Amino acid sequence: MSALRVLEALPPGLLTARTSELERLLGGPTLFDLPGREGAPLFLSTLLHGNEDTGFEAAKRVLARHAARGLPRPLLLFVGNVAAAARNLRTLPGQQDFNRVWPGTRLAASPEHALIAEVFDYVRQRAPFASIDIHNNTGLNPHYGCVNRLDERWLHLARLFSRTVVYFTEPTGVQSQALATLCPAVTVECGKAGVAANIAHAEAYIDACLHLAELPHAPVPEHDLDLMRTGWIVRVPAAASLSFDGTPADFEFRPDLDHLNFSELAAGTRFGRLGARHAHRLDVVDAGGGALDAVFDYPGDDIVLARDALPSMLTLDVNAVRLDCLCYLMQRIDRHGRAVP
Ligand SMILES: [Zn+2]
Repeated sequence: MSALRVLEALPPGLLTARTSELERLLGGPTLFDLPGREGAPLFLSTLLHGNEDTGFEAAKRVLARHAARGLPRPLLLFVGNVAAAARNLRTLPGQQDFNRVWPGTRLAASPEHALIAEVFDYVRQRAPFASIDIHNNTGLNPHYGCVNRLDERWLHLARLFSRTVVYFTEPTGVQSQALATLCPAVTVECGKAGVAANIAHAEAYIDACLHLAELPHAPVPEHDLDLMRTGWIVRVPAAASLSFDGTPADFEFRPDLDHLNFSELAAGTRFGRLGARHAHRLDVVDAGGGALDAVFDYPGDDIVLARDALPSMLTLDVNAVRLDCLCYLMQRIDRHGRAVP
């Protein structure tokens, strides 16, 4: 992989380029260091996942909107995995995930590591005011913000995007966790890629952040916030097959599984059925929620919840399940990270 490019102006054609054209236009991952009227820069990262276009599309619109009069505050804009974007993939085969290799990662050193370390060092030297990392997901999810610190300034930054705020500590090596050592930082999840309304929401959010004078230390009012944490990660074992359309597989999930995202599900809720081999069970990994007895039960051939649960990020995209997970299980928490009933 080629080294990081840093540009202080937009090349011709950037504001009309689609994400699939950026590799040709930019030649590789690029950090734009753009001037603004006053204050410390906002750091915005886009396309850490190549098939998630909302962040870049929203950034383009914000830049176009301010082209004549200049940005309200300086902007550091990172355009990440343009090679994967050219092929509409999250990451290329053989690449490490651009959102798992930020400082704090437990993954072994790689070219992606070295690139991201360069980005991080550059951004640290510019002492950012706040940081936003924009993502899409593949299932039916509401828009929500994610933080890695339960600090009011972090919550204000997230609340500006959505009242649903998720606190997480796993996986490691993600952008918002690394940037949280420098400034208030959030990951925002903007629903599916390629949807105009999602781009419009992200655009309004970036613009609001550019216009913010400061992030208050005063508490975000309790009733303004649905705060939860990622307690557990549910994975399909790598050796198992899966389907969502009734195709025979080790896990035959129901076709509307992603409708269950962010719903309070009762024990007994059905996720699907086991295939004929009965060879595998779902893996549930502790991501900060603590040890659990059985989460899933398999009466007859059915896959059902053995306990009440609040899932997020359920998807019907087999590839996304393979690359990331089936879903996260959430826990409602208070400002101290304690589970609330
Ligand atoms: Zn993503």
